[in-house]
Amino acid sequence: MKVIETISAMRADVQSARAAGKTIGLVPTMGALHAGHVSLIDAARAACDYVIVTIFVNPTQFAPTEDLGAYPRTPEADLAACRGHGADAVFMPGVAEMYPPGALTDVRVRALGERLCGRDRPVHFGGVCTVVAKLFNIVPADKAFFGQKDFQQTVVIKRMAADLNFPVEVVVCPTVREADGLAMSSRNAYLTPAQRRQAPAVYGALQVGREMISRSHPPAREVIEAMRGRLAAQAPEGQIDYVAVVNPDTLDDVETTGGPVAIALAVRLGRARLIDNIVISSQ
Ligand code: AMP
Repeated sequence: MKVIETISAMRADVQSARAAGKTIGLVPTMGALHAGHVSLIDAARAACDYVIVTIFVNPTQFAPTEDLGAYPRTPEADLAACRGHGADAVFMPGVAEMYPPGALTDVRVRALGERLCGRDRPVHFGGVCTVVAKLFNIVPADKAFFGQKDFQQTVVIKRMAADLNFPVEVVVCPTVREADGLAMSSRNAYLTPAQRRQAPAVYGALQVGREMISRSHPPAREVIEAMRGRLAAQAPEGQIDYVAVVNPDTLDDVETTGGPVAIALAVRLGRARLIDNIVISSQ
């Protein structure tokens, strides 16, 4: 497995794989890899001839008040995980390589990036889109793999790829969870033991919503109220950023739940901001 730190070496490597007729799979991450990330590497390995994992804690997707400095960094364990799951190359650029001085361009997917998490994190999706656009240009891949756990991110990136004509297929892989339902996240490391015990309420609230919708398609506001009730009861330390029932394509709030919907929520528990979602596509 190659470990590559410069854009020019990454371009040369991907070009030689392409010249050998290989299909390219790209797995963008911020490192601190866990089983959720690994599932993306496995999916890429199964679907593509040449698998490139990127590890880059992207500063432009963090607001100054957020956790860029504290974000967990475990490069040696990450490289071992990539190697163990058959990655062919890992791209680990430094910040100066990705953002040389003088850059003035950023990529923004209007509206979609402003809803849900975008309300609480107004700079976040601009940073995500900018870095993912750069990665798509540096590593022209056939397929790029993203996790359903970051549902809004998948919607935003699919839109960006279509709008900017990136010739890449965006593949969305299922959320990987702990045994008690908590979606795996690098930020779960911030939870104290007491907060960790409350954290499964996030997925519990989603299940409350899913059961209500499959039983009787109630108005969305009733679903949201019941989910908030579950969170208040089972995660008393949690501060709810949002609980929403939305159209899975436009991310607009819906009033009724008879059609395809996504239920999504974000809850702050101590230093961790936990997000999770379920998409109910056919009813
Ligand atoms: P991150 O390192 O948090 O930027 O995540 C990198 C990629 O891994 C993103 O596409 C995430 O959606 C995905 N990912 C993170 N956690 C999970 C999970 N629990 N299950 C599936 N994919 C995940």
